[in-house]
Amino acid sequence: MVAYPHRHLLALQGLEPPYIADLLDLAESYALLNRSGKTQRDLLKGRTLINLFFEDSTRTRTSFELAGKRLGADVINMSVSQSSVNKGETLLDTASTLNAMHCDLLVVRHAMSGAPALLSQKVDAAVINAGDGTHEHPTQALLDALTIRRHKGKLENLTVAICGDVLHSRVARSNIHLLSAMNCRVRVVAPPTLLPSEVERMGVEVFHDMKSGLRDADVVMMLRLQKERMAGGLVPSAREYFRFFGLDGAKLSLAKPDAIVMHPGPMNRGVEIDSAVADDPARSVIGEQVEMGVAVRMAVLDTLSRNLRRNARP
Ligand code: ASP
Repeated sequence: MVAYPHRHLLALQGLEPPYIADLLDLAESYALLNRSGKTQRDLLKGRTLINLFFEDSTRTRTSFELAGKRLGADVINMSVSQSSVNKGETLLDTASTLNAMHCDLLVVRHAMSGAPALLSQKVDAAVINAGDGTHEHPTQALLDALTIRRHKGKLENLTVAICGDVLHSRVARSNIHLLSAMNCRVRVVAPPTLLPSEVERMGVEVFHDMKSGLRDADVVMMLRLQKERMAGGLVPSAREYFRFFGLDGAKLSLAKPDAIVMHPGPMNRGVEIDSAVADDPARSVIGEQVEMGVAVRMAVLDTLSRNLRRNARP
């Protein structure tokens, strides 16, 4: 085990493979503990974890809350509608409030790429990026990797097809960084309007149709069509989108026979994924992704808290 060298977890871009592997190993042990029902531990006793969410979330916020509680932390959820941010408080004023509360671990979601990084320069707490704009969502990619590893026994040399709205997806970006670092072959499959310019420079293979993009894939990762981040009409209609880029049984049959199907949620059923595929227990690991989310977040909190102890306030 190699000591995680950072105070925060803001992005996976540039994180060295041994640290990723360590986080996944620790998360695997938490997954087993969670399944055995022995979850109450006091590793974070006396520590304060604040979930600061400027954007909606169901899975991420709940699983950070559960992870913090299972490790014994005092967990507080702050959502924008209840906080002073709506009354005009700036992000940096919020930071001084959090410092005054002696927050130890701060989980931040924000619509602006880079907001958690900005906060990390101003708060005493260890900051975890829980999704910032279209930039990164590191714990999602870690939980995706753990789920893949549990099913395939490894990450190296797998072909992973990431399909759909890559342009707006922080999930896609974090996954591309992690999976490439772990020597997966990463494909992105999307219409040109839903791909970032020069996406090839991220080291991925680009496909504009599901037929060729899914051929012989080990993992099919679907992304939500993020209408809230679209300024104009980037897709003709939901029906048309489903016809060409929605995952159904016929398209899935092009992937390897044992390919697994993933989705970070929330799903637009009938838009990017057919319910028959999403709910097929033989292929879909979407429920397991949520389960692994708690284990991964426990591993991240555990890891960052070890560095907190080293830098403990007097
Ligand atoms: N829940 C994920 C995120 O926050 C994926 C999504 O919203 O589509 O990025």
